[in-house]
Amino acid sequence: MRALKDSYQVRAYSIKHNYDVKEFLEAYRQLLQRAFDEIWRNMTWKEKWIEGKRRLIPIIPKENSFKHHYLRELLMEGWSYSKHYVDSAIKQAYSILKSWRRNYLKGERSRTKPVVRKRFVRIKETLYSYKNGRIKISIKPYEEYLEFDLSKAWFLSRARGKMGELILKENYLTITFRFKEKDRFEYIGNIAWDCNERSLDGFNLSLGWIRVDLKDLFHIHRVYELKRKGLQSKASRKVSLRKILVKYSKREKNRAGDFIHKLTTYLTKSFKGYLHGFESLNKKGMFTNSKRHNRNIAKSDWRAIITLMSYKSRVQLFNPHNSSRRCSRCGMVNAPKGATYECRFCGLRIDRQLNACINLYLQMEGLTLSPRLFDKLMERWSGFTPTGEKTHESSDESARILRLMNPKNYVCLLKTT
Ligand SMILES: [Zn+2]
Repeated sequence: MRALKDSYQVRAYSIKHNYDVKEFLEAYRQLLQRAFDEIWRNMTWKEKWIEGKRRLIPIIPKENSFKHHYLRELLMEGWSYSKHYVDSAIKQAYSILKSWRRNYLKGERSRTKPVVRKRFVRIKETLYSYKNGRIKISIKPYEEYLEFDLSKAWFLSRARGKMGELILKENYLTITFRFKEKDRFEYIGNIAWDCNERSLDGFNLSLGWIRVDLKDLFHIHRVYELKRKGLQSKASRKVSLRKILVKYSKREKNRAGDFIHKLTTYLTKSFKGYLHGFESLNKKGMFTNSKRHNRNIAKSDWRAIITLMSYKSRVQLFNPHNSSRRCSRCGMVNAPKGATYECRFCGLRIDRQLNACINLYLQMEGLTLSPRLFDKLMERWSGFTPTGEKTHESSDESARILRLMNPKNYVCLLKTT
């Protein structure tokens, strides 16, 4: 098991506001620039020879007496807003300067002093209050403060971790959330998914073949297609009928969306810690047999599945070449017909969708196709016949056989073949 580094992740969400903060933001920008100018003025340059070249290395003054006394007092003069903004400005000036220094040493920046142009204020988590869904930011002590109601914000239920720094801009307030990457994602392995009209097929070496039934999703579209067909001929004449058509398509969208939401939540919970691999949709040459209309519906469903999966768990997109036509055992390209994939070259007989997701899985794992690899990996696994013979029985089979999932009932059925 590979564990990811224990790092922090930051997610940011913005809300619009109507406060007039122009004056305050401009005052802060000037404050920041003053802090900057003063540090810059007190910087010393040390001559050094690096790789045969004479370089001037900037030494940033960091002493307490400078940073927290001299500079702070200087900036406080004439500052009428809350005092903590002075500390924020000092901190921000130092961090901008540090990153400039880093780039300068790499030779990516010149010796000219950076200028603050953008108007925004960063507000540390200790400098605002958050109670009962409301954020309160002090601007002037006992006089002026801003309040933001978050109780109805859409992201509150989704945001993970602790509320962190705020960024105040002219029309927006950005709220950041910090969370430990490790809490969010413990990497267990890869699952490769193949999207099809009637099912979503996944493969992972230790989980085996996972088939998620999409018949209900397909059915939703079918029902509304028939309903529309019945009305369509009359619809051009009557406005009320057209309204019904609009209503139908709204309902269809809602019901399909609801299904996909539940499905992706279910998959995320069932396969916690897995990285989900999907084939990039633009590259997939699918459904050459079905009607264009159905193809578009299915495509938009998969797009929604992949998008929602990427919100809820980890997703990686791939551009495999010929994933549905290539034999996952020997790598030769066949022209499969029907539900079973049969390889003319090595004799592999396998479910067509399973073949596609094994191909994608091997690519996710960075493995190159070969009969030896395939036979070794699939040794104790059933669901296909390697040489056209009957599948052999194995004691460990139950863990590796097809896992059928019916998202409507939220039950996981193990079907013995
Ligand atoms: Zn083959």
